[in-house]
Amino acid sequence: MEKLIFDKSVHNRKGYSLPKSEVDININDIIDKKFLRKEELKFPEVSELDVMRHFIALSHLNHFIEKGFYPLGSCTMKYNPKLHESIVSSQLFSDIHPHQTLDTVQGILEIMYELQNDLTEISGMAQTTLQPVAGAHGEFTGLKIIKAYHKAKGNHHKNVIIFPDSAHGTNPASVTLAGMKVVEISSDEKGMVDLEALKKVVCENTAGFMLTNPNTLGLFETQIEEISKIIHSVDGLMYMDGANMNALLGLVKPGHIGFDVMHYNLHKTLSTPHGGGGPGSGAVSVREDLVKFLPYPLVDFNTAPLCKGDLGEDEDCAGYFFLNSDHKDTSIGKIHSFHGNFAINVRAWIYIKTLGGKGLREVSENAIINANYIRKKLENVYLVPHNHTYCMHEFVASGNRQKEKGIKTLDIAKRLLDKGVHAPTIYFPLIVPEAIMIEPTETESKQTLDDFINAMLEINEECNTNPDLVLNAPSNTPVKRVDDVKAVKDLNVRHIL
Ligand SMILES: *Cc1c(COP(=O)(O)O)cnc(C)c1O
Repeated sequence: MEKLIFDKSVHNRKGYSLPKSEVDININDIIDKKFLRKEELKFPEVSELDVMRHFIALSHLNHFIEKGFYPLGSCTMKYNPKLHESIVSSQLFSDIHPHQTLDTVQGILEIMYELQNDLTEISGMAQTTLQPVAGAHGEFTGLKIIKAYHKAKGNHHKNVIIFPDSAHGTNPASVTLAGMKVVEISSDEKGMVDLEALKKVVCENTAGFMLTNPNTLGLFETQIEEISKIIHSVDGLMYMDGANMNALLGLVKPGHIGFDVMHYNLHKTLSTPHGGGGPGSGAVSVREDLVKFLPYPLVDFNTAPLCKGDLGEDEDCAGYFFLNSDHKDTSIGKIHSFHGNFAINVRAWIYIKTLGGKGLREVSENAIINANYIRKKLENVYLVPHNHTYCMHEFVASGNRQKEKGIKTLDIAKRLLDKGVHAPTIYFPLIVPEAIMIEPTETESKQTLDDFINAMLEINEECNTNPDLVLNAPSNTPVKRVDDVKAVKDLNVRHIL
């Protein structure tokens, strides 16, 4: 490992040279002593080049998509085109303010308007809000809309959301946060919703059903028609967790198969950077009669320019595109300041416009082909419990066979790090023991997929021939096994001098 920057420090080495000041000021003369630091800070004294090397070396200690394959199931770690970054960081986007008058940001509004429309089209629904800033935030928004729908009808008793045991952990959390109750039902042996279990729990109190499709096993839920009939028969609403839309673009419109509300994860499917808790976007689409509950404002378009007075005292000339808050009285309210994570939404808009409808469909087709290619190549060595059909954009294997030899899925995941691959999602979904959830995405070549397949096969060989190698992995990463429990309970991310 590179020497730490603190070890490279040499007294009086400078990383900069500034011209001599024209004014003679001593900091001690202008700032009261009580505000000044008493001790010198121990900064490393290094050159500019040392600083650059330090940060580049630090960045390499981590794993990122530009460094290597990242098949982290359910996270859609596809390559995000750098074109997006150069466009959103241009002054056109970075020098605007949400309080500008609308006539000065017509182009910006046009982008938001088009993105609303494009997401609405992809969803097969009636309208879309761009305000939510994460998948979970989208779930919360959608659930508040479901609640508002029942409240508007006077059905206050409808407060239960049903979901299968394969659901993402954010689903029950969002239901609870939205002030409703959760009822979990089991999946059948094929990994699909168990219809008999569903019929048993559906009742007058059912507010809706929440389903991830493809589900977290990477399988397309085939009984949606039956499920939505059951749920709609008690006036419940069908919510689709659309975090896995990478499998459905241009192939299936959720609004056409029985769903009433859905969220996207633009930071997965629509190729905006994510990870590390950074900004995301969880746009929500709804069917026609739910539009009035969406957060306000929505971006709208007038064929004739609106002028002074139409939008309140403050506006000059509002132009063709404007912010419509007509549904304010029925809306669930604002769920984020201004317009959500605007720059993330711009990246998604560029992605959609670059690919077009045909290109988006190819994204999903290739994501599905890549996942099935890996599944077929690994299925003889690693158990794939739900292997009765093709998978969609991801699949869930199990390390159960390797566990019989004393090697856990965690060990396999750690050994992958030695081979330059980010580990897949492990131990999720909970319904598969020793789960290994693999999502290659469409942006990887056959070569990369083959390298990964070989790495997985090699690890299985090592389980037989040299198990210590796997049990003690990783051996060539800067940090070896971490104490996960201590990291959570005793978090300290500072470098202490
Ligand atoms: C990622 C994901 C979420 C949550 O999205 P966040 O942006 O992390 O809040 C919800 N459901 C599923 C199925 C997901 O994969």
